[in-house]
This record gives sequence, structure tokens and C-alpha cells, in this order.
Amino acid sequence: MDSFSKELLQIVKNAKKVAVLTGAGVSAESGIPTFRGSGGYWKNYRAEDLATPEAFQKDPKLVWEWYEMRRGVCANAKPNPAHETIVSMENYYKEFFLITQNVDGLHRRAGNSKIVPIHGDIFTSRCTQCGDISELLEIPLTNLPPICKHCNSLLRPHIVWFGETYFPGVLEGCYSYLSNCELIFIIGTSGQVSVPIQLALYAIQNGAISIEINPDESTITSKVGFYLKGKAGEILPKIWIAKNKD
Ligand code: NAD
Ligand code: ZN
Repeated sequence: MDSFSKELLQIVKNAKKVAVLTGAGVSAESGIPTFRGSGGYWKNYRAEDLATPEAFQKDPKLVWEWYEMRRGVCANAKPNPAHETIVSMENYYKEFFLITQNVDGLHRRAGNSKIVPIHGDIFTSRCTQCGDISELLEIPLTNLPPICKHCNSLLRPHIVWFGETYFPGVLEGCYSYLSNCELIFIIGTSGQVSVPIQLALYAIQNGAISIEINPDESTITSKVGFYLKGKAGEILPKIWIAKNKD
């Protein structure tokens, strides 16, 4: 896809209050497997079998081993042209808000600062007893499962697992911004997790123009204003350059 409509380019160029919602697809070109693609399995377990409170209760070491593998992949990955373009967007738009489902830290490493990782961060832990939230930068961890330095209890990844509620206050902040933003980009999300899609729909219902970028259709494709079929790392930089030539 090389040619974009004049209407689309004008919208991208002239918007003032913009949101971006990203999912695992934005990091696919950095080599981080999505959950629902072919790389979504580990030792025959699906993500849905491991990223749950029940799995952690049953076998915390197994769940931590999976996270150790993923933390290693994330630490070695580098931001791709989609992440870099989203940094340019933050610098360009008067008001900007990045909502990511990704836990990989790549948006932060690319240079975004107005970012809310609604599902948490793979480099952060939370104590199952005292609730202490700490950075977990040691890779690989010496002790598995890791233990809280304050109370010696079991640590868990500071991540919203399947079936869990979101961190307090986080969604309220997103809804408030989305209630009157002009434009929302929805990039690399399958829409299988319902809350992020509800956020995007809320923005659309409140008048935002929507642009989706994904090689495959998602559960929100039929609702968006513009669906751009393809890879984020290819399409997003192209739009960003094309808007200046229009
Ligand atoms: P998903 O795995 O359900 O879907 C990924 C989507 O990305 C698919 O729609 C796919 O078509 C699309 N995609 C694949 N390659 C792409 C590309 N190059 N450009 C644009 N889109 C591309 O991901 P999800 O909707 O984010 O939901 C999965 C959940 O798992 C999320 O809650 C997320 O927190 C977590 N997760 C995070 C990471 C990460 O941090 N990188 C990776 C896997 C899963
Ligand atoms: Zn503790």
C-alpha cells in the first residue's frame, strides 16, 4: 500500500488531539511473537494457559520460566520503524496519548513518554503479599521464582493477566482522554481482549476518526473509518512522510 487518500493524509496532518492504541502486532517486526500468531506457543502451552492467576497459583515457577524466556526476548529486541514513527507523532501533535497493551517496554525505549501500558510491564514485579512494585531488570534471574526483598514472599510479574481486573485508575484516565480526541490509530491488535477494543469504540462513538493498521482484519475492522491492510513498520512511516507531501 503506497497511496493513501487525500482525505486520510489531511486528517493525519491536521489533527490536534490524537490517541494511539497498540497491540502485540506493533512489536512483531521487532521479533517479539504475538500471542495469536504461530509464535504464540511455549513448550506446548498457550499464553492463555500461563498468563492467569490460576496457573501462577498452581505452578509459579513454570509461569516465571515462561516470563524469563519472554523477558530475554524483549530485552534483546529493538524498536522498529513503527515505534519510531509513534515517537515522531508524540512530538508532532499538540495533545497525544499512547495506550499500549504491550508489556515489552519498546515504546518507552523508543522514546515515547506519554504512554500508558494498560497491561503492565514485563520488567516490573509485584509482591503477592506486601504489594511492593519494583523494577526487575536482572536477566536471567538468579532465583526462580523471585522473592520480595521486604517480606520474603513470592513476587509475580506486574502484569494484568487473563481474568484479572485492571490497575486502579488506569482505565479512567484513558476514557477521559478518549472522550474528546479527534483521531485514534489502532495498530496491531487482534481485538480478542475486550477492554482495549471497548476503549477504541468509545473514542469512535465520541466522534474520533479511526485508522486501523493490521495485516489481518480484527474484531474492530468493520467499525473503523480507515482500514490500512499491512505491517505497521511499513505503513506507518509511509503515511507519516506522505502527509508532508500532500
Ligand atoms: P494478539 O496477539 O491477539 O494479536 C496481534 C495482532 O497483530 C493480530 O491482529 C495480527 O494480525 C497483528 N499483526 C501481526 N503482525 C503485525 C504487523 N507487522 N503490524 C501490525 N499488526 C500486526 O495481540 P493483542 O491484540 O495485543 O492481544 C494480546 C495480549 O497479549 C495483549 O494483552 C498483550 O498485553 C499481550 N502480548 C504482549 C506482547 C508484547 O508486549 N509485545 C506480545 C504478545 C502478547
Ligand atoms: Zn513483599
